[in-house]
Amino acid sequence: MGIERDTGSWSFDSDVVVIGSGGCGLTAAIAAAQQGVEVIVLEKQQRPWSNTARSGGMIPAAATRFQRAAGIREPVDDFVADIMRKNHGASDPAMTRHLAHTATQLVEWLVDAVGVELVFIDDFKYPGHTEFRMHAPPSRTGAALVSDLRRSVASHPLAEIVNDAAATGLVVDGEGGVTGVIVQHGSQTERVRARKVILACNGFAGNPEMVAQYCPAMSGALYFGGEGNTGEGILWGMELGAATAYMDAYQAHASVATPHGILITYAVVMEGGFQINAHGRRFGNEWSGYSEHALAVLDQPGATAWNIYDARVHRLALQFEDYQQAVSVNAIHQAATVEELAAALKLPAAPLAQTLQEYNAVAAGEHSDPFGRPDCRKLAAPFYGVKVTGALFHTQGGLVVDFDARVAKPDGRPIPNLSAGGGVAAGVSGHGPGGYLSGNGLLTALGYGYLAGRHAAVSIRQAQENTHL
Ligand SMILES: Cc1cc2nc3c(=O)[nH]c(=O)nc-3n(C[C@H](O)[C@H](O)[C@H](O)COP(=O)(O)OP(=O)(O)OC[C@H]3O[C@@H](n4cnc5c(N)ncnc54)[C@H](O)[C@@H]3O)c2cc1C
Repeated sequence: MGIERDTGSWSFDSDVVVIGSGGCGLTAAIAAAQQGVEVIVLEKQQRPWSNTARSGGMIPAAATRFQRAAGIREPVDDFVADIMRKNHGASDPAMTRHLAHTATQLVEWLVDAVGVELVFIDDFKYPGHTEFRMHAPPSRTGAALVSDLRRSVASHPLAEIVNDAAATGLVVDGEGGVTGVIVQHGSQTERVRARKVILACNGFAGNPEMVAQYCPAMSGALYFGGEGNTGEGILWGMELGAATAYMDAYQAHASVATPHGILITYAVVMEGGFQINAHGRRFGNEWSGYSEHALAVLDQPGATAWNIYDARVHRLALQFEDYQQAVSVNAIHQAATVEELAAALKLPAAPLAQTLQEYNAVAAGEHSDPFGRPDCRKLAAPFYGVKVTGALFHTQGGLVVDFDARVAKPDGRPIPNLSAGGGVAAGVSGHGPGGYLSGNGLLTALGYGYLAGRHAAVSIRQAQENTHL
């Protein structure tokens, strides 16, 4: 449907309409409702299963009281430096700093004022992080995060979530300001008037045409995110003249169990495992990052690889619910010897044994890794293996927003009444798959959501106060 002109005819109205009920949308809704304005969250799916719900729920933030309680004193700028190092200095430094500082406040607000249960993760550092700074639900699942956020929205008298309500377009006035949203709810098409609209409907990873256009290396790869994320928020913004940035940026992942479609935590690789192809050979530096390494996996015969590791790594991975699920569906193979492992994985035994021997020699410091991996750890029997493929998780490019998450035109002026966050907004991951630092997804989803919700509410209340003067 796209963009339609305001005819003054509305089915109902709300102060704020949020499009999408993932991490960005729910955070924005809570932040706005807490400031005393009405919020409606529109969700396309009948049973929402957003990217946030599928995620590991890992929210990065430095200098939180949880990080301090773990004995870590870290300036936020160290976190900023890690983000910028990973994206080769390509993200906007001021916005990156702003989001990183917002994250400190955000995480404490989620726990203190929203009732989200988070624990500090200090047993596993994600690739590119020089310090522990992930905060996640105890189950390490985004489903738990979404469940806590939804509970908070449901308990707020000013906020409501409507499922099976797809926004199909925006309504604009003669000056190009957004005045409402067109919604398909069941068989009904309705126009909802809104003082502020927040686009929280993620990026375009679920839209094969847009993926082919902007991220062609991922065209045809397994998409591991929510089906609802088909890019319309970005397209509407473009139609309204918004600036876009980093449209080629995305997060991929090198370790999704196939054919089971279960995420195998990259802790398996970071903590000592390695990857081989169907010839039993390693094919790259697995430590380069799970996002960029997905391309190397997709280049292998059958677009598949196998994670090889041992009992120590297996025990660590068992902390992750996804991994437990992979164990329960027999995706994970265990064997007493490397030859038995090769048989279980249907791989050639001699090359696998040789690869393991070479890897262990690097781990023992006998020579450096031919692929440049900086950290190899000796693996010992019993051995474990799982067949994986590379997958597209989400896109990281989108509409340029300002510090309040308002959608901006190329000259920096905001489009009136329109904000965006999460996958709709330009992220801080630079270009391609390699600029993504773990946590950038929820940083921009929850961070921009928090900024957008608060700003929408504050500006509505200011406008109300001004009319009463
Ligand atoms: C398997 C996996 C693991 C991940 N783990 C992590 C992690 O641990 N940490 C991290 O930082 N990032 C992680 N990410 C990335 C992170 O999940 C995303 O960046 C983030 O969840 C995006 O949030 P969002 O609110 O923008 O989108 P989503 O959470 O996807 O929510 C968007 C919602 O909008 C709805 N929607 C779309 N279009 C419309 C419409 N027209 N009308 C109404 N509703 C609409 C969708 O149905 C969906 O429910 C992971 C991603 C995946 C796939």
